[in-house]
Amino acid sequence: MVWEPEKECMQRDELRQLQLEQLQAALARVYMHVPFYRKQFDACKVDPDDFRSLDDVRRLPFTSKADLQENYPYGLFAVPLREVVRIHASACMSTVVGYTRNDIKSWSNLVARVLCAGGVSKDDVVQIAYGYDLSTGGFGIHYGAERIGASVIPTSTGNTARQIKIMRDFKTTALVCTPSYALLIAETIHKQGINPGVLSLKYGLFGGEPWSEAVRQEIQDKLHIVATDNYGVSEVMGPGVASECMERKGLHINEDHFLVEVVDPQTLDPLPLGETGELVITTLTKEAFPVIRFRTRDLTSLLAEPCPCGRKTMRMARVAGRSDDVLIIRGTKVSPSQIAALLGEIEGQVPAHQVVVERPGALDEVTVLIAPSESSAFDELRKQHERLAAIAHRLSSELGLSINVKLVERKSVESGPRVLDKRKA
Ligand code: ZN
Repeated sequence: MVWEPEKECMQRDELRQLQLEQLQAALARVYMHVPFYRKQFDACKVDPDDFRSLDDVRRLPFTSKADLQENYPYGLFAVPLREVVRIHASACMSTVVGYTRNDIKSWSNLVARVLCAGGVSKDDVVQIAYGYDLSTGGFGIHYGAERIGASVIPTSTGNTARQIKIMRDFKTTALVCTPSYALLIAETIHKQGINPGVLSLKYGLFGGEPWSEAVRQEIQDKLHIVATDNYGVSEVMGPGVASECMERKGLHINEDHFLVEVVDPQTLDPLPLGETGELVITTLTKEAFPVIRFRTRDLTSLLAEPCPCGRKTMRMARVAGRSDDVLIIRGTKVSPSQIAALLGEIEGQVPAHQVVVERPGALDEVTVLIAPSESSAFDELRKQHERLAAIAHRLSSELGLSINVKLVERKSVESGPRVLDKRKA
């Protein structure tokens, strides 16, 4: 099933022509309405009117997450706020994105493509266990599922026992969440001795964090479903950028809305098709928050071979990791330098610490190991306890993610690496 065959199955040369026209219009829009881009283009002596081929995009400067943060909150918006109908932000609130009514319309449509490619139709009952909050997952998928005409159950995250009860009682046929949460649900169902055969589940559409083929197999076997991977970037739109079809061999990129490049993360030179590098995205149709050559920091490669499903859009390989040190924890991005900066703010100076990421069960856990403060003696245990509780509270609320904090001997945090990621692929 293809949601929009006239776009998704468009001939390559027609698609390239459409992309070029859209790119010219997008560049003209940002040049006119966003001072940041105007300054950038002028500095590189780029005239948006003088783009003749899609390769000309390489003459434009990259946009990084830091550029977005420096223009917090509305500096990169290309329309006045009265035209913005929705605002989302990253968990730590450092980047803010907006959508016009048209943006919401195309977002819903692109998510409808994702759901349709993953098996969902208007006959399905879709349970959405992404957060309905500032992040783009919950609301992004929700509007797409309604657009298809499916029956949507907005359970949001957490309360696994209730998720399973709803799944059983409401006869959910499609589950949408992060792969690690799907795995937790699958494991809980098994622990409770529920036969997955009594569930009505057929499809699982998972995204928000990298996952392996082995995890896919485990979820499919335990829940008796077909599980597909989908990819989104909050700064670019949210879910709806790319998704697998039933072939499950690479994620189709919605190229009539996004121009993608893969570059060497060190030299930033373009890489030939098939080589793994950093994915860079230019939005072609976004009105409120267009981005030009946004460095996603996600590592992937592009596949140009035609897909048996009939879609002609290029596919990207499942994300293989990051080109920076950002950790993706239960779908939320956390950077170790941000943790260090917060610790410095709380304590007056950055204490010796180590960030440990583990996956004791299905879900990731982050623990910050901290050395005792210089001045404290061990008889002040109660004080240290209060200190740790205060740090844990502040980190968790600023990062939008629950973080454990433990006191350890100074030499053990000073000798180890700053970040210890113990998760298996
Ligand atoms: Zn396909």
